[in-house]
Amino acid sequence: MSIRALIRVGFLSLFVFAACIRPAARKAASPSPPDPGTLPEAWLAGVSCETEPVIQVHAYNEDLYVLRQSKCSHFEAPFLYLLFGEEKALLLDTGSLGEPPVAATVERIREKRARKKGKDPAHLVVAHSHSHFDHIQCDRQFEGLPNTTVVGHRVEDVARFFGIEEWPEGIVAFDLGGRVLDVIPTPGHHPAHIAIYDRRTQVLLTGDTLYPGFLFVFSPNHWDDFRRSTRRMVDFVAGHPVSRILGCHIEMSRTPGKSYPYGTRVHPEERSLELGVEHLLELQDALLAMGEEAAIEAHDDFVIYPAWRAERFQRPPRDAR
Ligand SMILES: [Zn+2]
Repeated sequence: MSIRALIRVGFLSLFVFAACIRPAARKAASPSPPDPGTLPEAWLAGVSCETEPVIQVHAYNEDLYVLRQSKCSHFEAPFLYLLFGEEKALLLDTGSLGEPPVAATVERIREKRARKKGKDPAHLVVAHSHSHFDHIQCDRQFEGLPNTTVVGHRVEDVARFFGIEEWPEGIVAFDLGGRVLDVIPTPGHHPAHIAIYDRRTQVLLTGDTLYPGFLFVFSPNHWDDFRRSTRRMVDFVAGHPVSRILGCHIEMSRTPGKSYPYGTRVHPEERSLELGVEHLLELQDALLAMGEEAAIEAHDDFVIYPAWRAERFQRPPRDAR
């Protein structure tokens, strides 16, 4: 073989080698979670109340369900999350006013899944991202149900149930049976707020601390907690891969920086629910830049909203303060 031919073969081998390793390198840059899932293109957003279900149920995968209360039922239209392990299921939040049939919907999913697996329905733990009214309103539907535990609303209730000794610095694991969640205290928006990280899907559930909408902080006394909680989540994600950040509401439109006024009942051009680590870092940067001087600041995908800074105070949730 001539030297020229040898060089040609060498280049060809290099090309083939590079083509082979490229997918692996891409995979390493954004690892897929052990248990991936999908979100819908868009959620029902109050556009046709005659036909929209009161609760939209989306199977992210067979062990994680995302439920959305209809905007026709209540403008807050919160998202609820139902995660299954081998022994327990966790429902995070129970919905807002309007009496949506949350317990009956969850029961249906639990029983269908148990039948499919040939097992008894998993013990249900009903916990909350936080206890503003639009996240706990349907708790009473679960009270007294068999095989069900409803976690209380105060900081001490949440800390005791999950075994968080150092509130809010302590991050604890909560095992549903073959599925470990990390519970991260995130006071600021509400004193008893938590975020949940699911190691299986690598989804970070951020409640009302970070979502595509108004990131309300209702009192200057809670501003420092909000900043520290954001920092706690940033530190956490530095050591844990995150596939998606999912919060509890959508108030942004598809036009970057444009939000629907708080309380709007119809969102015809609603932004997607999903955020990423880049949004958490963007929030962290903005809070670092502000320091103690809280300011209302609109970003493309969320609005930082220290409510006491508003000239005309946006109506806060009913029991926010
Ligand atoms: Zn809230």
